[in-house]
Amino acid sequence: MEIPLGRYRRAPGSDTDLVSIDPAETGPFPPNGEGRKAARKLLKRQRDRLEALQRLLYADGSQALLAVFQAMDAGGKDGTIRRVMTGMNPQGVRVTSFKAPTEEELAHDFLWRINRALPRKGMIGVFNRSHYEDVLVVRVKGLVPEPIWRRRYDQIDAFERRLVETGTAVAKFYLHISKEEQRERLQARLDDPEKHWKFDPADLKERSRWNDYLAAYQDAMARCNSEFAPWYVVPANHKWYRNVVIAQVLIDTLEGMGLNYPDPDFDPAAVCIDG
Ligand code: AMP
Ligand code: MG
Repeated sequence: MEIPLGRYRRAPGSDTDLVSIDPAETGPFPPNGEGRKAARKLLKRQRDRLEALQRLLYADGSQALLAVFQAMDAGGKDGTIRRVMTGMNPQGVRVTSFKAPTEEELAHDFLWRINRALPRKGMIGVFNRSHYEDVLVVRVKGLVPEPIWRRRYDQIDAFERRLVETGTAVAKFYLHISKEEQRERLQARLDDPEKHWKFDPADLKERSRWNDYLAAYQDAMARCNSEFAPWYVVPANHKWYRNVVIAQVLIDTLEGMGLNYPDPDFDPAAVCIDG
């Protein structure tokens, strides 16, 4: 089953009108139980492939992969990371969640904490929120003066170009949910005592700025998008579709990196193990 990744990958230089992209889309799968079942089966196969590719990335040892996840509150970042990364060797993956900056982080430039979390060669780095918060929440809430956040688009672009040129592939995901879907997910957090910890009353304030966030996301995608570090808008109302889209992007990205198992510097056929 072919997932139309070309449709979700933002073309460099193009504008993204998020309102015109259907968050409930399910691509080649019917939007029902049948589709969900088929997608879950596919995800199992994708995980096997990802595990093999991760092993290859590690053995190759000359490049890294950075996957950036951004979304509105309750957009599914945690669930995506849990579902898609399951099966990978934990030694080869490092997940970093970026919260409101600490005093020490604020005392440095905005990319300082990001640089420190970058994956080593051979590793997959996963960012749960990222440097993009510095042109999203920071812009929407006016946490720094406009001329400062405006300059960050070029700074982010240059930073990502440097990453790619030095051997770290970058894939950026915006998990696209509808405002109604967010309402349902936030309500579910209120209804289930085991989910209360996930509910943050401050999220309602952010929700009231939905359109400001959309505008900020659209600008980030227009200004910081390139062949070398593309943005993907992932329809994310249906978690099962979201998962297979993201898994496929990661597979395609890893397959495109030209990874190889290194040649041994000895002749394995000539080695004789005693006993
Ligand atoms: P959560 O992902 O629900 O744990 O929340 C993390 C919070 O940290 C969110 O409200 C983000 O908007 C906030 N946050 C992350 N990065 C930044 C940043 N650079 N500046 C301000 N707030 C941030
Ligand atoms: Mg939150």
